[in-house]
Amino acid sequence: MLRTSLLYRFYKLMSKRPTILVTNDDGIHSPGLKALAEALQETGEVYVVAPDRERSAAGHSLTLHKPLRAAEIASGWYAVSGTPTDCVTLGVMGMLKEKPQLLVSGINLGANLGDDITYSGTVSAAVEGTLLGIPSFAISAVDPMRHDLNIAGIFATRLARVVLEKHLPQDTLLNVNVPAGKVTGVAVTRQGKRSYNEVIVEKIDPRGKTYYWIGGGEPTWELVGGSDYEAVMEGKISITPLHLDLTNYAATQVLKDWEALLG
Ligand code: MN
Repeated sequence: MLRTSLLYRFYKLMSKRPTILVTNDDGIHSPGLKALAEALQETGEVYVVAPDRERSAAGHSLTLHKPLRAAEIASGWYAVSGTPTDCVTLGVMGMLKEKPQLLVSGINLGANLGDDITYSGTVSAAVEGTLLGIPSFAISAVDPMRHDLNIAGIFATRLARVVLEKHLPQDTLLNVNVPAGKVTGVAVTRQGKRSYNEVIVEKIDPRGKTYYWIGGGEPTWELVGGSDYEAVMEGKISITPLHLDLTNYAATQVLKDWEALLG
């Protein structure tokens, strides 16, 4: 028994640790990024390539019309003057010596639930990883003011090990949301639906010009059974598998008649 365990440990030591690329959209100085990178260190060789400032709600934007700068601010930590998608592209194509076996984006300080994921730089980084053929997941702390980031960090490590061992289905990434407080379980969920009631604040600046500020409205949610929102409200960690294929297959049937109409 002892012999087997020693042999196992020896092989584990000799086998190469997986390379893990870590990024976020809150910027390189975010405590969420630090907690994630530190937690994942026991699972693999962690490289951090993250925006040099907050780029939340940057979506999947890619910088093509100006140069990007990258500064190595600590060993294996690169601050990039671009979006989360830029960071993944540069990290994989430029800084890392080999293609990472895993990409983890987060820990975002705020939820990424329902329709909001289309704005999310955190989720978009995982989309980019998936496009590049790297198993990827995004992880967010739902209520960062009340959140112990170590809980999300520990869960990221657990999930990272499972993803590295079992891999992910083709063209699929995971969107993970961790509730604050006591976690009551883990649920595989579907994307929820938010009812938009954004408030546009309109004011006059000191030079007499009008400016606008988007936001301020409290989000309300449609109650969809099995949704990401429902899970986190029940204190569960939500894992939503997302697909890169955005085709609405039911709608292609409905719109089939339009071919004759428009042809
Ligand atoms: Mn963010």
